[in-house]
Amino acid sequence: MNQLEEFKALGLSEDILTAISKKGFETPSAIQSLTIPHLLNTDKDIIAQAQTGTGKTAAFGLPIIQLLTSKKAIPQALVLVPTRELALQVTQELQSFNSNGLSIAPIYGGASIEEQLRRLKKGIDIVVGTPGRILDHIRRRTLDLSGISYLVLDEADEMLNMGFIEDIEDIMREMPSSKRVLLFSATMPERIASLAKNYMNEPDILKVESKNITADLTNQIYFEVREGDKFDALTRIIDVEPEFYGIVFSRTKVGVDDIVNRLIDRGYAAEGLHGDISQAQREKILGKFKKKHTNILIATDVAARGIDINNLTHVINYSLPQDSESYVHRIGRTGRAGNQGTAITFISPSEMRQFGFLKRNIKADIKLEKLPTPADVIAMKRNRIKEDLYAIIESENYSDCQSMAAELLESYPPEVALSALLRLAFKDELSENSYPEIRSINVDRKGKARIFIAVGHRDGYDPRKLVKLLKRECGLSDHNIDDIKVADEFSFATVPFEQANKVVKALNMLSNGRPIAEIAKDKSAESGNGKSRGKKSDTDRKPVRKARQNEEWFDFEKPARKKKSVTDTGKPGKRADKAKAKPKKATTKVSRREKKEKTKRK
Ligand code: AMP
Repeated sequence: MNQLEEFKALGLSEDILTAISKKGFETPSAIQSLTIPHLLNTDKDIIAQAQTGTGKTAAFGLPIIQLLTSKKAIPQALVLVPTRELALQVTQELQSFNSNGLSIAPIYGGASIEEQLRRLKKGIDIVVGTPGRILDHIRRRTLDLSGISYLVLDEADEMLNMGFIEDIEDIMREMPSSKRVLLFSATMPERIASLAKNYMNEPDILKVESKNITADLTNQIYFEVREGDKFDALTRIIDVEPEFYGIVFSRTKVGVDDIVNRLIDRGYAAEGLHGDISQAQREKILGKFKKKHTNILIATDVAARGIDINNLTHVINYSLPQDSESYVHRIGRTGRAGNQGTAITFISPSEMRQFGFLKRNIKADIKLEKLPTPADVIAMKRNRIKEDLYAIIESENYSDCQSMAAELLESYPPEVALSALLRLAFKDELSENSYPEIRSINVDRKGKARIFIAVGHRDGYDPRKLVKLLKRECGLSDHNIDDIKVADEFSFATVPFEQANKVVKALNMLSNGRPIAEIAKDKSAESGNGKSRGKKSDTDRKPVRKARQNEEWFDFEKPARKKKSVTDTGKPGKRADKAKAKPKKATTKVSRREKKEKTKRK
């Protein structure tokens, strides 16, 4: 079967199909199957339930690229995203499908405004931007949104969490009412629903039905690794396992080929399966894998369908699958027919959020573990060599080498001869240096954790006051608080790792119903200057999930626990001006409770 048939059936053009084929996609993801035909065949606004990682960029990007003709004048489409990382990521992804020669550019806070002005002057067809910087350009009159036909609100709930909703409303007012609005959000808090009501035109709701699936049969673990370290993590796992026999899943054909080539280069017996492999070839590869002539199979989800092999030691999710169902299918290949296997998932920082949804959705107990260290791997290899040696000695199957051994022992002491022989046989395999360093992400689990706190100078904090707060509310002592950084709207502090969760919890109890603290993902993300431009800036702020209310709308996010209110204690809460400007959450809560009670009474 032509692998692109399913994409073609959605109405995509030949040019776009060529671009998809180059990317190595095999089948449309669920959100793509829903969104693409809708965008191509109707002119209605949409609200789509989609998390990051589910292929949502292509879901809106492919049809928009197909529908637009390059004018290189004022923008025809605007994609609003919460962070600069996402702005770059989305721009890159859109560029990779850009068969129409459109001009696509990111416009985000923190980057040179002059460079952006130059790009805008030259003409851009699709702008991918963060709300703060887009608004800056509107105010400077350097961005004309009067020609916008498509507005995409990507990760709308994250933009709400980061305080961008008013900016978005301001931006929306600058656009013609004829534009089509496409809103993508993993959850549907009340504020997003009202944004949709006020600024969208009877949107259709596209929602992927999540099936009730569980995956609790297999031993499931995950490792946090940067994308660039995944390959080295894979080799450590293969090497530490005495008899590794497993399938490694990649989302794309290109990914499969890449992993296979790198493994073969390093001397592993690996083969790849994906949609471009002929049936005859496929059978050959599977035959070898079944006989364990190759012990590592790299496959896409489609290619792995129908493989009936029971005794795998491992299933490795090198990249996360598109949805929970695929995850369950993948890992169901271990633990079959009573065999215990291990399912391992690699999670890069950008996959964390999708992974959170996945874990909740399948209700699986997936444990975070630490990768084997080079020393662990070497110890395992040495053991294996010794066991193999004992086996040969016991079988007395070495007579053909005995005369040579005697010769060597005439010239050298046994230890020297044996050491040289091991070196010859295993070269660098027994050296820890042959395993590149894998940097830890998120936090240094032995030592310190970096905490992001959504209060800053504007809330009256300076380093001294922040230390005071941490001591008073979190029970920390001076020597446990390090590296304080206070910016206009947020701060960072380093605390002992064992206390990090307690600190986050204590701070979040103070904050008038909205979490203000979380463990920061990566210290490199603090590089922004944090200077406010009067409005919420979108430089380097980390998303802080506000209390999620009414999120049952999309049924896989639990509503937040009720938090202690501290408005009148003088402790950090909403800033007074903001609190005035926005309807109070408490009011909403009361009215909802009232509604409930009314319904009960009826
Ligand atoms: P997104 O949800 O848009 O951030 O996409 C997550 C990742 O999935 C990106 O690396 C995409 O290139 C990839 N992707 C998107 N659609 C597909 C597909 N149909 N098959 C395989 N990979 C995909």
